[in-house]
Amino acid sequence: MDDIEAYSVNLAPTTRLLVDWYRAGHRDLPWRKDPSPYRVWISEIMLQQTRVQAAIPYYHRFLSLFPDVHTLAAAPEDLLLKAWEGLGYYSRARNLQKAARQICENLSGRFPDTYDGWLALPGVGPYTAGAVCSIAFSQPVPAVDGNVLRVFSRLMALEEDISAPAVKKKMTRLVASLLPPDASGDYNQALMELGATLCPPNGAPVCKECPVSAHCRAFQDENQLLFPLKSAKKPRKILPMTVFLLENQGRWALLQRPAKGLLANLWEFPNTDGHLSAREMSSYLEQWIRPAGSPLFLGNAVHIFTHLEWHMSGWRIPVEEILPGCPFTWAEPEEIKHLYAIPSAFSSFLPVCFIKNTL
Ligand code: SF4
Repeated sequence: MDDIEAYSVNLAPTTRLLVDWYRAGHRDLPWRKDPSPYRVWISEIMLQQTRVQAAIPYYHRFLSLFPDVHTLAAAPEDLLLKAWEGLGYYSRARNLQKAARQICENLSGRFPDTYDGWLALPGVGPYTAGAVCSIAFSQPVPAVDGNVLRVFSRLMALEEDISAPAVKKKMTRLVASLLPPDASGDYNQALMELGATLCPPNGAPVCKECPVSAHCRAFQDENQLLFPLKSAKKPRKILPMTVFLLENQGRWALLQRPAKGLLANLWEFPNTDGHLSAREMSSYLEQWIRPAGSPLFLGNAVHIFTHLEWHMSGWRIPVEEILPGCPFTWAEPEEIKHLYAIPSAFSSFLPVCFIKNTL
C-alpha cells in the first residue's frame, strides 16, 4: 500500500456515497442527539471495547451521575468505578476523570477545541481526538479505529496487517485525504456505522445493502471474509485460581486490589493462584478465619482479559470467627450492590452474596 494517492483517487467517490447513506438513516443512538464535546467524548471512551447496546444503559447512568465535566472531576473514585462496574477496562474511567480534572484545573472547565488539545488529555488517542473534533467541532480530522481499518481493508483488498502501526498510519492518511471538509463528522460516523452494521467484524458483511459495494475490491472478488488479514496472535497466559466466598453473619469478605496494575483499586473476593484442594484451602485461610463448616463448591468460571485468562474455581465457606489481623473488608449484600465496584470477572460468583440461607 505504497500509493496512497492512487487509492485516494479510486475511493474518492465513496465519500459522498457514505455521507448520503449516513444522512438518509442511521441508528438512533443517545449520544447522537446532542453531540456536545462532553457527550461525544464519554460515548467514544465507553464504546472502546464495549458494544453499542451494552454501552447505552451505562451511558445514561453515567450522565445522570456526572452530567458535566465538573461533576466528573469532583466524583469520589468509588462512585466512578461503581458506575463503570461491568464495563471492564477501568483505566478508561480513571483517565476520564484525570482528563476532567485537567480540563477544570488548567482550562477553566472549557474543552479543548483543537485536535492536539484533545490528544494531550489522559486516555485520549488519535481516534477519540478525531471523533470528538469532527463530530462535536466539525473539524476535518479522521477517526480511524479497528472498524474503519476493517472497512478499508475490504474496500482495498489490503494484503497488509492492519495492526501494524505503519499500516495504520498510512490508512489514516488515506482516510484524511477522503474527508469532506464540510461533513467530516458525518463521514467519520458513516464509517463507524458501516463497520458496526453492514461490514461487521464477525459474520458475513451485507454487501447487497452497502452504499460503496461498487467500489469494494473484496466484494468484487467475493473474498470479503479474507480481510482484514490477521497475524497470528500470541496465546494468552492461563492463570488457575481459587476464589473464596467467605460469609460471616450475612456479610461477605472483600479485598481491595492494589492501586496499580490489572483491575487496580477494584474490590474482589479473596482468591489465590492455583486450584486448591480442601486441605490446601483450609491451611491457606487458617491465618485469617475459622470456618463454620465445609467448603461448598460453587463451580468453575473463566474470565478472559486481553493477554490473560483466569480459570477460577469458586468455593463458599461459612465463617465462624474472624481472626485478629484478617485483612478482609466484610460487606453487607446491599453494600456490595451499591458501594463496592467488583469487576465482572467475578460475576459468576457474585449472585451467591444475594441468596439467603443456602447452606
Ligand atoms: S461491499 Fe461488503 S465488504 Fe465491501 S465495504 Fe461494503 S459491506 Fe464491507
